[in-house]
Parts: sequence; structure tokens; C-alpha cells
Amino acid sequence: MTTPVRVRFAPSPTGFLHIGGARTALFNWLYARRNNGVFILRIEDTDRDRSTDEYIEAIVEGMTWLRLDWDEGPYRQTDRFDVYRAYADRLIAEGKAYYCTCTPEELEERRQRALSANQPVAYDGRCRERIEKPAEPAAVRFRMPREGQTIVNDLIKGPITFENSVLEDMVIVRSDGTPTYNFVVVVDDIDMKITHVIRGDDHVNNTPKQIHIYQAFGWEVPAFAHLPMILGADKSRLSKRHGATSVTAYRDMGYLPDALVNYLVRLGWAHGDQEIFSREELIQCFSLEGVGASASVFNPEKLLWLNTQYIINSTPGALAEAVLPFLVKSGILAADSDVSMDWLGKAAYSLRERSRTLVEMATQMHYYLAADIAIDPKAREKHLTPESIQLLAEVRTMLAGLTDVSAAVVEPLVHEMAVAKGLKLGAIAQPLRVALTGGTASPGIFEVIEIMGKELVLQRLNRVIGG
Ligand code: GLU
Repeated sequence: MTTPVRVRFAPSPTGFLHIGGARTALFNWLYARRNNGVFILRIEDTDRDRSTDEYIEAIVEGMTWLRLDWDEGPYRQTDRFDVYRAYADRLIAEGKAYYCTCTPEELEERRQRALSANQPVAYDGRCRERIEKPAEPAAVRFRMPREGQTIVNDLIKGPITFENSVLEDMVIVRSDGTPTYNFVVVVDDIDMKITHVIRGDDHVNNTPKQIHIYQAFGWEVPAFAHLPMILGADKSRLSKRHGATSVTAYRDMGYLPDALVNYLVRLGWAHGDQEIFSREELIQCFSLEGVGASASVFNPEKLLWLNTQYIINSTPGALAEAVLPFLVKSGILAADSDVSMDWLGKAAYSLRERSRTLVEMATQMHYYLAADIAIDPKAREKHLTPESIQLLAEVRTMLAGLTDVSAAVVEPLVHEMAVAKGLKLGAIAQPLRVALTGGTASPGIFEVIEIMGKELVLQRLNRVIGG
């Protein structure tokens, strides 16, 4: 029987969930779902000065929005200090870790001295032979082997060899009693039975240190897969300088979560040259073998393109749900409005090919919903001439006589009217569009009339025609 796959996403809550973190979460989630495994969310908040509850909430919010559901957790490392303490004590008892009383000032002074003498700046092992627990507060250091090599067999990067001589006796518990990242991450990964550590390659250099801790405990080392970096267009590491990087910022800009997921998966992973994947397809196709070893570049235009595709391919019902918060936020719709979701779906769906984001969609929807609209002065001048207003008056009379203003009914009637007058359809349709929507670009005018309904259409026409 093979061991069941167990993976984790282990963010430090020192910021919002950003593009890079979300991609790491997604790859772990996909790996778990692909292999019928377990996906764990673990909050690495041992750095108490920089971690906040607000960021934990933001991370949970970002993952929930992306629909990356976890099977266990969120665990918090600050709830587990007793566990770490017990494991640290075990290493001390076995002579694999030792107390260190060197003060930060002393360490800094030695570091400076080593630097100016061109010597290695690693901890010099001064407290290595100490056995007794000192009376004063002391850190705990891990006794690293000084000879030999450590090989990280990375599933993405292949084998990476580290000389043990460059790994210093790192602190695993600070003198204030708080454990450090490289220690707790190993204890947790073992305690939580993690089989595959999938994380950003900014942790590659930590991996040999962590392997030594596994070995000191006699634990089996999990598989490691370090994901290549995400860069900005200028090839430097992706940061705020390159624009929005937090996941919730994309939500607020009107991106669909599935579009962002689809975008994120292609940052480093490929399956032939397919670009658009449903979640089910991703779960079926995802593999770590498909992850490339080179860095990928974050391309906001491509993300926008994908979003456009996802909007075009959404159902009316999904669009209604998705656009509703944007309508409320922009004040186009009251929060307690009892608008019919069916109708809203129809209205949103009519704009699916003209909206790159839900914000753009909501903005255009104002002409379906607002009591009154402003008419673009240029459009008015060009299309609302005395002659065309005369035509609109005839359309108004025609519509007033109808009970059903659906496109199927109105379209042939307006066509007939144009033919009878020897006019092109546009000569009637364009003034109508300006009168009804305030501008010259909108979905098909008969669709617009159907969605607006007779009452609103007549009201808008009355405003333009007067009388
Ligand atoms: N907490 C670490 C981070 O946010 C991740 C550690 C890990 O995945 O091993 O970078």
C-alpha cells in the first residue's frame, strides 16, 4: 500500500495572500486533489512581531475566494509551542543540540571581525561543548555536521548538493523561548505526516538544514518540490512595484476566481499548449512533472485576457451572482434591492462580450438599472438630430402599442419601418441606442429593449423626444 499523499500550505501571516503564495497553495491543493490526498493549511506565525490575526483572516479569505478548500487546519504554530519545546529538549538530551549564551552583541562583534578578516561569518561553535543548562537565558543551537554533503533530491530542480561546511549551527529556540522556522517546520511536517513539501524556491537553501533535523530525529525525509520564482516584466522578483499582487485586489478589480486560478496554474505548469482548463481538468492533469524549472513572468494582460474568456463563458446565473456585489458597491443597486436574479443574469449576460472585468460589467449595467442616465454630448449631437428624434417618436408609438417588447417581436417591426422609409437599420437603431443607453456602444439594441422592458424604454424615449 502506498502512503496517502498529505501536503500543506504554510503561509506566514505577515502580509496578504499574494500571487506567489496563492500559486503555492494552488499547486499543493491540486496535488492533493489529484492524488486523493489531504491538503492542510498551517499558519506559520512564530514570528510574533510580524504576524497578525488580520493577515490570517486575509489569507483565509483569499483561499476561500479561490475555492482552495483545505481538509485540515488552519493549524497555528503559536498553539504548538509545547510540542516544539519537547522536541528541542529531546535533541538537547541526545547531544544533538546545545545551549548557547552568546549575546546578540557578541555575535555581531564576532561577525564584524570575521568579515574584516575575510573569514566565514557562520557561528563559530563557541558553546558547542556546553552540556549543563546555563542559569541565564540561553538559545538552543542545532549541532550541524561539519563535514560531508547533503543532497536535496528536488522533484522539480533535480538533485542539488550542499556542502555541510556552509551550514552553521543554527538557532532552533531563541533565548526568549520561541522556536525558529527551520525547526518548527520540520517538527510540524513530521507531526502532520506531510509526504510532499511543495513550496517556493526561496526555501531551497533551508532544505539541507531541515534534512539534518529530520535525520537527527531518525525521521524519514519527505519529498521536496521547490517552485520556481515568479518575476515581474522587468525580470526582477514580483513585488508591489509591478502592480497589484494580492489576491483580494484582483477580486476587487472584478476578476473571477476561476480565471485567476487558471492564470496561476500556468505560472510554472504546462500541459501541452492548452491555456484554458476547468477545475476538473486541472485536477485530472496536474502533476509535478509538468512544472518547469525556470522562473515565470507575471503577465497582467494575459490574466485580463483569461478573465475575459471566463466572463464570456459564464452562465447568466453565475454572472448575476458575481456582478451583484459590484453593483451594490458602486451604488448602482441598493444593498437591500429585491432585483430578480433571473433578470440580473440576463442583463449581465448581454454584456459578457463587452466586459473584461466585473467592474466594467457593473459600470455598463447602470443603463439597465438607473432611474436616469446622462447622454454623452457627442453622441447626442451626432445621433439625436431633429430627423432621428422624429423616427424615435414613431418607434415610441409602435412600442406603446405592444404588450410584449421582446427582441423577437420588436426586431421585425423596426426592420419593416426602416424598409418602408428606405433607411438602413442603423439610422433607427443608433439613435435608439443613444436614447436608451446614453452612448453609442451597447449590446444589440433589441436585446437592450427586451432587457429594459417597456416601461423603462418609454420613459427614456420620452426624455429624449419630450412631450
Ligand atoms: N512559512 C513559510 C513562508 O511563508 C513557508 C515555509 C514552508 O513552506 O516550508 O514562506
